[in-house]
Amino acid sequence: MNKHSSLRSASDLEASGLISSAERLDIEEVARRFSVAITPAMTDLIAGSPQDDPIAAQFVPTGRELISSPDELSDPIGDDAFSPVKGIVHRYPDRVLLKPLHVCPVYCRFCFRREMVGPEGEMLAGGELDAALAYIAGNPAIFEVIITGGDPFALSPRRIGRIVKALSAIDHVGVIRFHTRVPVVAPERITDELIESLDSPKGVFVALHANHVRELTPAAREACTRLVKAGIAMVSQTVLLKGVNATAEALSALFRALLGLRIKPYYLHHGDLAKGTSHFRTTIAEGQAVMRQLRGSLTGLGQPTYVLDIPGGHGKVPIGPGYLDDGENGPVVTDPCGNRHDYRG
Ligand SMILES: *Cc1c(COP(=O)(O)O)cnc(C)c1O
Ligand code: SF4
Repeated sequence: MNKHSSLRSASDLEASGLISSAERLDIEEVARRFSVAITPAMTDLIAGSPQDDPIAAQFVPTGRELISSPDELSDPIGDDAFSPVKGIVHRYPDRVLLKPLHVCPVYCRFCFRREMVGPEGEMLAGGELDAALAYIAGNPAIFEVIITGGDPFALSPRRIGRIVKALSAIDHVGVIRFHTRVPVVAPERITDELIESLDSPKGVFVALHANHVRELTPAAREACTRLVKAGIAMVSQTVLLKGVNATAEALSALFRALLGLRIKPYYLHHGDLAKGTSHFRTTIAEGQAVMRQLRGSLTGLGQPTYVLDIPGGHGKVPIGPGYLDDGENGPVVTDPCGNRHDYRG
């Protein structure tokens, strides 16, 4: 097999030694339900099995994905309920999601849109994209357009440029935000042409999805640096994942590395109730304990907000931990060590 192509099937994975022949039948079944792809950049980083390597755990399918708990959902964050036109999700008055495609260069085993993303997921056709852009142009309350998918940086620079140009021409749009894993999983796609396609008088943000410090390879770092040097503001989002990053040590290392690249940690997502992902999910109490440790040990610049997308499409909210509650004599504040203090103000 060509070392420089992505792995996309059980037989690719077996040929590259990432799964054993004993696992093959299970993995074929997983691949019928959920898309599989691992880019060369991520294949090169894998240093163990999904049970012991945080990179393998994110991308190499396992039989555990065939286990669905009854509370897991096909559309865990409820995108479908808020889609006024194809390709748009409008849940909050001031911002919309624009999803021009469903393809990603890698398919993460914990993905919250795992039943919607995939290589056969179609791209918005020209007319549909125009209709989505017209919806944004016709709604003056929309301040921000969040371009997601799929992974929007899987589009050609020419298509990205067309979208950026169209959005830049809309007066009430102030911010254009891309959500992507490409700088990490396929850094070679961050070409001069792609960077030029992002040029706009608006506030252009790139939210990088990164879950482990080892993802920030020299090539990934260089790709991010090129974006930042081009004047693009970068933030990061991370999914809290058992077996990948659910400790204060792992997250501190990641957030410090991101800050060093001038990328501000933005959100830490609690694992969504996507089908076949229970082995990745922590409890909310475990997530809060990790956040409390981070508060006491990591610069404030490195603190993301810990958020939950409420199942059913009810929105994203911070889920703590809380540091303030009511005591007998008024407010009580808990410090990062867990000591409680009365506050009289
Ligand atoms: C997450 C999300 C957003 C963006 O939310 P922010 O809190 O602004 O990052 C917007 N729309 C939908 C539907 C979302 O799920
Ligand atoms: S890149 Fe994002 S949308 Fe694509 S599979 Fe991974 S988590 Fe899902």
